[in-house]
Amino acid sequence: MAIAIGRHPQDQALSAVRSPAAFDAAVAAVPLLAGFVRPDVTEPVSAVHVMAGIRATFRRMAPQGRPLFHGLIPIGDALATTNPAYGRGLALALTHAEVVTEALGHVGATRTSAAPELAARVLPRLDALTFPVWYDAYRHDGMRIDQWRRTLGLPEVARSESRPWLPLSLAAAGARVDAQVFIRMLRAMQLLDRPDQFFGDLDLIDQLPGMVGAPMPLPTRSDLVAAVEGDPLQAVG
Ligand SMILES: Cc1cc2nc3c(=O)[nH]c(=O)nc-3n(C[C@H](O)[C@H](O)[C@H](O)COP(=O)(O)OP(=O)(O)OC[C@H]3O[C@@H](n4cnc5c(N)ncnc54)[C@H](O)[C@@H]3O)c2cc1C
Repeated sequence: MAIAIGRHPQDQALSAVRSPAAFDAAVAAVPLLAGFVRPDVTEPVSAVHVMAGIRATFRRMAPQGRPLFHGLIPIGDALATTNPAYGRGLALALTHAEVVTEALGHVGATRTSAAPELAARVLPRLDALTFPVWYDAYRHDGMRIDQWRRTLGLPEVARSESRPWLPLSLAAAGARVDAQVFIRMLRAMQLLDRPDQFFGDLDLIDQLPGMVGAPMPLPTRSDLVAAVEGDPLQAVG
């Protein structure tokens, strides 16, 4: 198994989790995860790896359904990248490939003169498939970034988004108490349903706060910083 810890880039104190001992201490401070770093239960098989420069990108190629160009069809990460923590990149890339191969079957792979027809068939479809997935990741990432910034006392980022979106933490709390919410969340996360069918469901956004029970015990940032600073290697410098 693998455990990932995310932090705001300006949260210098928590950057110490790059050290294996500090990483384990931070994980052990989270009651839900602590068991995974007990030496009698698990044994680390790698160093702590750092993932930086994670960007959400989407290159819209057919605004209002009109292809901007032909002769080139970006798919997979070349078309859009989302947060790897959501684990959607492979599914999205394979779906893109399926759209292209289906269209090639109709249009003919070898005729260069077919490029405009191919673009007209493929680019709007890729846009329509990809935008909801990218947008969902963008909204969740935005909410998490704002939460991190509030914790650090930084001003929130100004955003023009007004459409209500179900925060992941609330969705997860609902999934713990309601089997239907659990299944719907999994289907949306795994792209069996379009993410907005769950995270943009206005009735659910209204009802969920009343359905969830007491919040799970979670450490505060100060708890994590204290755990990380307790790492003897960090203390040495
Ligand atoms: C750390 C991390 C964890 C991830 N975890 C998950 C996960 O759990 N689940 C999930 O679904 N997705 C995950 N993703 C996302 C997923 O890996 C990508 O969305 C997916 O690999 C995209 O496929 P792709 O074919 O578009 O690009 P890539 O897999 O990047 O393939 C592009 C290939 O092109 C090659 N290449 C580049 N330039 C050239 C050139 N000039 N000539 C020839 N070859 C070239 C590259 O070497 C590479 O092999 C993760 C991504 C990262 C970075």
